[in-house]
Amino acid sequence: MRDRSWTRLAVILVACAGCRGPRPVAPSSKVRTPRLLVTIVVDQLAAWEAAERLGLLPADGGFARLRREGLTASELHFEHAATDTAAGHAALYSGEVPRVSGVFANEMPGPDGKPRSILTDEKTHLVGSDGVEIPERPGSSLARLRVETLADVLVRALPHARVYSFSLKDRAALPASGRKPTLALWLDVATEQIVTSSALPAPTVWAARVGSKEAVTSVRSNGWTLDEADRGWVEARAAAAPDDQPGEGDLAGLGRAFPHAAVGSAKAMRATPLGDRVLFALARSALGEIAADRTGAPALLALSLSSHDYVAHVFGPHSWEAWAQLVELDRRLGDLLATADRAVGPDGYAVMLTGDHGGGTLPELLPEARGLRCELGGPADHWERPCAPARRIAPHAVVESLEAVFAAVLGPGPWVVGVAEPFAYLTAHGGALSEADRRKLVEAAKTALAPLGIEDVIDARAATAPCPAGESRATLVCNAIDPTGGADLFLLVGPGAFFDADVVPGFGTSHGSRFLYDRAVPLLVRAPGRVKAGEVRATPVSFRAFAKTAASLLGVPAPEGARAGEDLAGPAR
Ligand SMILES: [Zn+2]
Repeated sequence: MRDRSWTRLAVILVACAGCRGPRPVAPSSKVRTPRLLVTIVVDQLAAWEAAERLGLLPADGGFARLRREGLTASELHFEHAATDTAAGHAALYSGEVPRVSGVFANEMPGPDGKPRSILTDEKTHLVGSDGVEIPERPGSSLARLRVETLADVLVRALPHARVYSFSLKDRAALPASGRKPTLALWLDVATEQIVTSSALPAPTVWAARVGSKEAVTSVRSNGWTLDEADRGWVEARAAAAPDDQPGEGDLAGLGRAFPHAAVGSAKAMRATPLGDRVLFALARSALGEIAADRTGAPALLALSLSSHDYVAHVFGPHSWEAWAQLVELDRRLGDLLATADRAVGPDGYAVMLTGDHGGGTLPELLPEARGLRCELGGPADHWERPCAPARRIAPHAVVESLEAVFAAVLGPGPWVVGVAEPFAYLTAHGGALSEADRRKLVEAAKTALAPLGIEDVIDARAATAPCPAGESRATLVCNAIDPTGGADLFLLVGPGAFFDADVVPGFGTSHGSRFLYDRAVPLLVRAPGRVKAGEVRATPVSFRAFAKTAASLLGVPAPEGARAGEDLAGPAR
């Protein structure tokens, strides 16, 4: 690639009449601005997992290269309880907590009462990989997001910039893509293809090819098996744990032990490395397009790798499958970096890798099998992992308990539309209650739900601003609740408790709590000339550092919410 694509003066001309963004970066110093920033969110990559496992991966893999060539921040802290995918991605890419961003849960009840993506937008349609609208299916958009994102700022400051965002989930692809991406794509399991929304550009020719139903089916037909070398590595890492542990689920016929030879659907494929393989293929094509662009336009390639999350939801993080997924992810990351080397040169790009939330463990495992050394009744560890067994909370059990107790206090219902974790939604009947009756209802809910593992119940409509600063329980809860978002009751889970993710009901694990095992993630920043190679930052960093640093690397102002964040690639370093 030409040299001029690598170093340029950080003079950003912001043509945004009426925009409330900050002023351009001062052209006072020569700042190395890579042409390409690759942001990678490994879904459910906890700080505890990174601390315990990344050092065990092969020296020629992607993680080792990122750690060797860049900065490792061991703990990026989210500042909201309800540590889930949509809220996490919105927080990373905007620098705002859910209370401000408006993206406070993965799902909300739709018109039929059934939970659906919080980003569902009835004014849009789903668009297939072939570019044709699927009329009976609503699409998704960022209409609910009230704040600007990294990508929004990028294309406003540099209108010729390219933004690509790929995930298996809309709630991960969209916060990264912003409102005006070049391409934002995710997987639709019902039609088994890569899709977008009519609010966004149609898939390109190469995206149509890589993301078609035929291509997705061909990838999953590979099955998930281990060769001898990987099997040995996995077996050694999993120590004495059996491949089929208590609590592991069987998703859509995938089975609970290797080989997972038959991956019979796109739904099952998500919980294998094959799901991410489709995303890596899209990323390779995007890198080819970026390399072929002779204008040298800056580019953001955002990947949210969802398979890591689904594998934990189905098998738990101490399973053979979790180790096998990690080593495969590591290899694919290494390949991606090599592709980026060829596309723009090793010094032509920066990489930031993090998680959108952490995760807990299978309730069925003993503390030793969960990697904890617990005296009887001992304290939680640095990551606040409890020694007591985790609790799996079934949403339908919550609804049944609430209905019963509300009927006893206030008379016959129905009172509850449903639970889309971590919120309960009331019927119109419940929503119209007086403040005094709502208070009664909240008190009754606390008593009814405590035995299920729910530590507190908060009236989500009554929560008042502003939230106190810091990371206290009160702050984390306050930051998680959007009082205008339509939810009624916030259900705060206790230590080790989680709502059943319903990927395989009654099995697997999840996340969503305010504790560090769910709330702390790692952040790796590879940025030649901008961060010191091999540096480790052990003290916690606010999640706002993600968008702040990314904007700094792209040479554009940070999104408003991230302005107070730390620039890990700042001039002082
Ligand atoms: Zn997630």
